Amino acid sequence: MVTRIIDGKAVALGLRDEVRRRALALRERGVVPGLTVILAGDDAASATYVRNKERAALECGIAGRTVRLPSDVDALTVLRAVEEANADPGVHGILVQLPLPAGLSRAECQEIERAIAPHKDVDGFLPVSQGLLLLGQPSFLPCTPAGCMRLLRSAGIEVAGRRAVVLGRSAIVGKPLSHLLLAADATVTIAHSKTPDLADVVRQADIVVAAVGRPGLVRGAWLKPGVCVLDVGINRLPDGRLTGDVAFDEALGIAGAITPVPGGVGPMTIACLLDNVCLAAERAAEGH
Ligand code: NAD
Repeated sequence: MVTRIIDGKAVALGLRDEVRRRALALRERGVVPGLTVILAGDDAASATYVRNKERAALECGIAGRTVRLPSDVDALTVLRAVEEANADPGVHGILVQLPLPAGLSRAECQEIERAIAPHKDVDGFLPVSQGLLLLGQPSFLPCTPAGCMRLLRSAGIEVAGRRAVVLGRSAIVGKPLSHLLLAADATVTIAHSKTPDLADVVRQADIVVAAVGRPGLVRGAWLKPGVCVLDVGINRLPDGRLTGDVAFDEALGIAGAITPVPGGVGPMTIACLLDNVCLAAERAAEGH
């Protein structure tokens, strides 16, 4: 079997073009879509993610602003930054880059993350956003799960009536994606670190999503011939290369379609974030 490589970069570029056109239309109506990112601390990976978001926003005609706070910042200062962005009509989307500095307690981090106004929650992480998703009335879709669903659609993968196995149950990827697959009429199994016989579970799947964070966890021999594999994992190998959670070379010739790492799900996450910012600005322009 020839395995089709799903080109997430190309699909993400298409979505970014669409966002650019919508941002231009908003600007013509006097609304400049605005995204504020709150970055506290000096985590190198977070700084890179935020730079990428700033650059992508600019390219799409979105006004990006990053509030940079030191690693010894107190919770009140971060909360004040969130509240200023909440009150600013020029800011349509807000995100707090995680992880927050280690000096902040779990309760403080939770309070900060939950201080974002629901109509500006472009990450879709607030309890109210997650609750609406669960009820099938999503407000903002969390970006990585939304990106996965777009990739399935663009690759023409049938979801309704098929068996999907999601590896990983995090609140930002595994759980919300399971609900989106369910809403698209898949029969969904969520597997996690305590699931026995993972290989047997994966072998049942027509669609496998790996969102674990363990390089090469999913072996080629676990896959049903023709399965569609979405590899969400991003793992850095000792030699500096990035790799996913699926043994990519082993999957070739068995899977019907697969997303590579890098160049698969990753580029979709930022594109879906920009889509959400535009959506928030469109809603604001309509007076919602
Ligand atoms: P997480 O650490 O919050 O969750 C990992 C999940 O994997 C947990 O639910 C755990 O139960 C499960 N797990 C751990 N070991 C397992 C095993 N042996 N078998 C089955 N399940 C196991 O991680 P996360 O935030 O959901 O991220 C998962 C991966 O996806 C990471 O590599 C992360 O870097 C990547 N990620 C990528 C994007 C993207 O844009 N492509 C976005 C978010 C996360």
